[in-house]
Amino acid sequence: MKVLVLNCGSSSVKYQFINTENKLVLSKGSIESIGSSSAILTHQRYDGDTIKITGEILDHDLAIEYVIAVLLSKNHGVIKDRSEIEAVGHRVVHGGEDFSGSVLITDTVIQTLRENIELAPLHNPPNIKGIVACLKHLPDVPMVGVFDTAFHQKMPPRAFLYGIPYLLYKRYKIRRYGFHGTSHLYVSKRAAELLGKAYDSIKIISCHLGNGCSIAAIDRGISIDTSMGFTPLEGLLMGTRCGDLDPSIPLHVMAKEDLTLAEVNTMLNKHSGLMGISGVSNDMRELIKTMNEGNERPRLAFEVFCYRIKKYFGAYIAALGGLDAIVFTGGIGENSFEVRKEVLTNLEFLGIELDDEKNLIQNGDRIISKDSSKVKVFVIPTNEELVIALETAQIVSELRKEMSNKS
Ligand code: ADP
Repeated sequence: MKVLVLNCGSSSVKYQFINTENKLVLSKGSIESIGSSSAILTHQRYDGDTIKITGEILDHDLAIEYVIAVLLSKNHGVIKDRSEIEAVGHRVVHGGEDFSGSVLITDTVIQTLRENIELAPLHNPPNIKGIVACLKHLPDVPMVGVFDTAFHQKMPPRAFLYGIPYLLYKRYKIRRYGFHGTSHLYVSKRAAELLGKAYDSIKIISCHLGNGCSIAAIDRGISIDTSMGFTPLEGLLMGTRCGDLDPSIPLHVMAKEDLTLAEVNTMLNKHSGLMGISGVSNDMRELIKTMNEGNERPRLAFEVFCYRIKKYFGAYIAALGGLDAIVFTGGIGENSFEVRKEVLTNLEFLGIELDDEKNLIQNGDRIISKDSSKVKVFVIPTNEELVIALETAQIVSELRKEMSNKS
């Protein structure tokens, strides 16, 4: 099935057009700076043909029209008719407690997404705009919503409840949701494949380390705990986000520095994490470079980053009651052998033995633990677009079957 995968952000639309039968990306691209007169569309076809156009794209509706137009383009496109777009898969950030899996988008689903805006005020509105634009420009094409939160929805209450009045959970849905679900699902399933074991028979810790970072404990195919919480601010140290924090700290800083709610929110989300500690960069490559030149604060940032991942390993191995595999993914997880080495050092007593040579090899899905390691360690580049395309194809195929049974 040919599926258009859309990831609509506040001022950008990223897309991939994927043939799910052979997993080939027929074309991919993005539109950045939507809302301005200098929006940039970048489009690349499977054969390497690339174009870049700058122009006025004031809203998501027009952006989606451009995406369809470029897919249809005589010189740069890959289809001759809109009907060749058989389905659209939308990345949706927050499904709240309403979605524990991907769903066919209906009016009721759109209404429920609107009701969940309060949980993701920055992310869900552009996701909804993308859906509404597709309804207009591709009215007969089935659409599926794939949620960042859904994979974690089977977490038990002991993992998702916070130690605050229960009333606040009931009244405002304040609980742990977790994010990066499609990535954790993809890499953990792939690890099971590489291990040659059934997904529902093994215990995995999955580390998504990009600009945003999260870690998940996956027990026989179910995410039983994850480090991001009510928002993506909790858990691991990230590029510019603080991760776990004594909740009194923001209150204390607000009083001391006379900060508003918005200002303290910006401090925790944009000026903390690797950037905040190092004072140099939120980019792990830059940090490692400056750290190796002998700079103290980048080293501290690196150490805090790695130590926290290690602490979560301890917690999640205990929560899982054992471990078969660890997976690293995301820009840092896939590329930084330094981070992987620091995180995995001195864990032999848990049956985790890193192979230093394999750790240096940088390509594709790979195993980096020693043959003797009881716990296998993998590096698996994430592919969220492919997961969205496959989920979409599966749901649309089921729908087609149901309809043909009825007729
Ligand atoms: P996002 O979460 O925005 O998708 P990515 O998954 O692309 O981000 O991850 C970005 C992070 O990956 C940055 O911190 C970047 O420094 C890091 N990264 C990318 N390549 C390397 C590398 N070769 N070595 C270390 N870190 C890397």
